[in-house]
Amino acid sequence: MSNISFTSSAPGYWANENIPHEDWNSAKWQLKNRVSSLADIEKHLTLCEEERAGILLTGTKLATAITPHYFNLIHPTDPDCPIRRQVIPRIEETHTDPSEMADPCGEDSHMPVPGLVHRYPDRVLFLVTDRCASYCRYCTRSRVVSGVSDQKLETQWDMAIDYLKKTPQVRDVLLSGGDPLLFSDVKLEKLLSKLHAIPHIQFIRIGSRIPIFLPQRITPELCATLRKFHPLFISIHTNHPKELTTEVHEALGRLADAGVMMGNQSVLLDKVNDSVDVQRELVQKLLMCRVRPYYLYQGDLIEGTAHLRTSISKGIEIIDGLRGHTSGYAIPQYVVDAPGGGGKIPINPEYIVESNEERTVLRNYEGKEFVYSESKLVPHPL
Ligand SMILES: *Cc1c(COP(=O)(O)O)cnc(C)c1O
Repeated sequence: MSNISFTSSAPGYWANENIPHEDWNSAKWQLKNRVSSLADIEKHLTLCEEERAGILLTGTKLATAITPHYFNLIHPTDPDCPIRRQVIPRIEETHTDPSEMADPCGEDSHMPVPGLVHRYPDRVLFLVTDRCASYCRYCTRSRVVSGVSDQKLETQWDMAIDYLKKTPQVRDVLLSGGDPLLFSDVKLEKLLSKLHAIPHIQFIRIGSRIPIFLPQRITPELCATLRKFHPLFISIHTNHPKELTTEVHEALGRLADAGVMMGNQSVLLDKVNDSVDVQRELVQKLLMCRVRPYYLYQGDLIEGTAHLRTSISKGIEIIDGLRGHTSGYAIPQYVVDAPGGGGKIPINPEYIVESNEERTVLRNYEGKEFVYSESKLVPHPL
């Protein structure tokens, strides 16, 4: 059908351990066997000094944990491996730039109830857990995620549900954290039922990286639970085409078959996905997985993540290199989540060359110019 291929992540570094199929394919086994210590990482990877020091020094801010499934995608020796850069800490995480913040998007100051961020008029962000299957080094919520830093996520469940019940302008609830799909099917069903029963809530969405880090969690049973709560959207989070393995492709297929609408959120990251070629392959592969690219985020100004950020001009260059060159369905909206709590601001390449009341000169994706003339309505002679 195409030259795009999906490859399995198994057995990889676990080839000599003869892990039974049922174990490897169990989310419980994957979570129990997460790679998190320097010794475990060094069993398989050759680390550079920056990584060794990073693993030893950064443990009090954001934990290190990587599922065996995802760990298998890491190159054994290359410190610039795009998968490695997302999950293996580096010493640069201990450097803080003056522009960086613990809570750059101003979430903590927009919580009417602890754990519930109400920034936009008609929708809320509900932080339901502080745990993930693996931890992204550029996490926008590293101040509370993974449970090792001083600040804790203190979601007030009953107060949050009460707030939603008595706030009829909220028609869209986005569950995030942490990763809500780490909850058991029973716990997730209880939460979704409560939200689904509120008449003014038109739909629920879940932000999750579980389909990428732990596709084994996307069981037929989970899908059967999710399909009771339509319309249900899931925003997955992928940054590189290598992450879309056979296992991930199949897990996303199960979610799509269960009628879940899926979008993808990527973060623009230095030496991970900061090129048109990588982004084009990623977005085309996502469409083959029945996932519509939704947002491409400029890296938030999180403390200790300068080494992973790119310039805004790089993001504009990427969108410019996609628009017109591939399917419109494949193109995400590039956004900056405004420092200080202004919300997501779209950033687009400039297609207007000049404009006045009569005419607008536009350029197309090839750089050719076209004139659109505004017609003046002249009264018709009767
Ligand atoms: C991103 C976000 C949303 C959802 O925004 P959409 O543009 O509708 O996807 C809602 N609330 C907060 C606080 C957010 O950061």
